[in-house]
Amino acid sequence: MKKITIAIDGFSSTGKSTLAKQIAKKLGYVYVDTGAMYRAVTLYAMQNGFIDEFELNKTGLIESLSAIQLSFQFNSELGFGEMFLNGVNVEKQIRTLEVSGFVSQIAEISEVRSMLVKQQQQMGKDKGVVMDGRDIGTVVFPDAELKIFMNASPDVRAQRRFDELTEKGQLVSYDRVLENVLKRDHIDTSREDSPLVKANDAIEIDNSNLTREEQFHKVLELAEKEITKSL
Ligand code: C5P
Repeated sequence: MKKITIAIDGFSSTGKSTLAKQIAKKLGYVYVDTGAMYRAVTLYAMQNGFIDEFELNKTGLIESLSAIQLSFQFNSELGFGEMFLNGVNVEKQIRTLEVSGFVSQIAEISEVRSMLVKQQQQMGKDKGVVMDGRDIGTVVFPDAELKIFMNASPDVRAQRRFDELTEKGQLVSYDRVLENVLKRDHIDTSREDSPLVKANDAIEIDNSNLTREEQFHKVLELAEKEITKSL
């Protein structure tokens, strides 16, 4: 069976990773969560004093980029690769609201982007990959056979993220989560390097009123059509 590349981009908390994981599992493809990579670099910056409450030491972080080793290690119980930063599993730490609060500023740095984009292109070089992020269909794999662009209203997205965080036992307020979602939307769409934008040939899905099942079947059908076309 010929393998294709599937790029899933879109706004924060649109359920990209849930969908990407489902599709990867169904097709036997590798799933790559590129947001986890930007989050891990952010955690590294926080742990190493490049971010304090008010300031980001961009030059210091750029100089230290070669000390950051990222890898996904497959967890068979979970069914996906967990993020390891310099050999340590940071899957939980990178999902906190503190990391979410800084990640878009880190993702604006061109040196960070070019390092991560290279690693992502390497991971997907043999196709058979479902990658989710903000610039997958535009920058990382502009030739991906299937590009999906996901959107949902900010309220729906904030509610989803709030439920997810509280389920994990994190004490957060809905208003803070909504504020973070809107702030990231703004930084992600207005940054100079690789802003979040729908690729011309991407298929847009607004899932504000779609169930996970409906969305999954819709995208699976599109993927199967592309796979058949490429035979
Ligand atoms: O997907 P997730 O919400 O975990 O991504 C966290 C942040 O990482 C995004 O808000 C964005 O600033 C950045 N990001 C990016 N490019 C990607 C993936 C994530 O700029 N391909």
